[in-house]
Amino acid sequence: MAQRLDEYEHSNLALIISQKKRIETIINRMNDPVIGLDENKKILFVNEQAQKLLSMDEKELIDQYAPDVAIHNDLIRTLLKEESTINPLKIFTDERESYFTKEVIIIHSQEKEVGKVILLRNVTSFKELDLAKTNFIATVSHELKTPLSSIQLCTTLLEDNRIGELNIEQKEILTTVKSETNRLMKITGELLDITQIESGNIQLHPQQVSAREIVNYAYEALKFPAEQKHIIIEIDCPDGLSPILVDLEKTAWVLVNFLSNAIRYSPENGKVTIRVERKDNAVTFKVSDSGKGIDPQYKDKIFDKFYKVPDSDFNKTGTGLGLAISKEFITAQGGKIWVESEPGKGSVFGFEFVV
Ligand code: ADP
Repeated sequence: MAQRLDEYEHSNLALIISQKKRIETIINRMNDPVIGLDENKKILFVNEQAQKLLSMDEKELIDQYAPDVAIHNDLIRTLLKEESTINPLKIFTDERESYFTKEVIIIHSQEKEVGKVILLRNVTSFKELDLAKTNFIATVSHELKTPLSSIQLCTTLLEDNRIGELNIEQKEILTTVKSETNRLMKITGELLDITQIESGNIQLHPQQVSAREIVNYAYEALKFPAEQKHIIIEIDCPDGLSPILVDLEKTAWVLVNFLSNAIRYSPENGKVTIRVERKDNAVTFKVSDSGKGIDPQYKDKIFDKFYKVPDSDFNKTGTGLGLAISKEFITAQGGKIWVESEPGKGSVFGFEFVV
């Protein structure tokens, strides 16, 4: 009996050991760096890729308390941070910059957390392709700007009576050429902006500006398109607000974009309101319209690059870049951006700065 029990235990132990070995081999062979921690942040395993990335070997890592290792290793410190780290992470390895996304898998046993696995995925090749695309778009947009400016100048010259009188039909054609050129200028401008954002080249020039100045800038830019659709722009901006430290051009750009969307998505004879509010230590800018509103399922997506709400009759002309650029311009300045909307009841787009 004792012998049978012994044999049984040994066979079980052998099975567990062989399973452990198999799992260790799989983890070690993985091309992605993997680190395993127990519930007390003690390092349980670190595969070869992770050791290479951390420039430390197994002996220095296994069974160590991870926050202790983090004191001397910046990468471990970044990886241990609970809050979302910049994604993807830029890490210098193999004498070049590589990019990794971080995923944390929490391990549970009987509803209790018993540890976690940090998984890094090398996305350098995707990042390089993305960069090539960004550079390509930047070059093309830049190259288009010069001929477009020249077309714009020519249309202005054609309007000059000294060159010759245009008949009614010619004037109509010229109006179309001008409006299409302006549209192309806007698209190339937006494409250039997004490429600068993607390559981390947003240059901010903060200065003390009054909220009224930002509102007036947006109003002046869009009063004619609003008039053409018989839309009233109402402004509610209290006097005596203290100036805020922001980049005037970029902040006004966002308000112009909100306002131009509000006009575009509002019916004729509608009303659009620009409202500035100061509450506690925050200044909020809001643009409300009485347009068709946005379905809740699209609310977060509309701030993504190139995203346009499907089946919209209006969105054929847009690039789907305006709100993505707006989000970058506001968050780069430490602000918050959002939308509140109900289908059929209009939308309120807003951004806020803590002052
Ligand atoms: P676009 O240049 O296409 O307008 P945006 O990034 O500015 O790009 O907007 C993204 C999408 O969000 C639009 O295609 C549209 O469907 C939706 N949207 C933006 N503003 C409004 C609004 N005021 N009312 C309804 N839908 C809107």
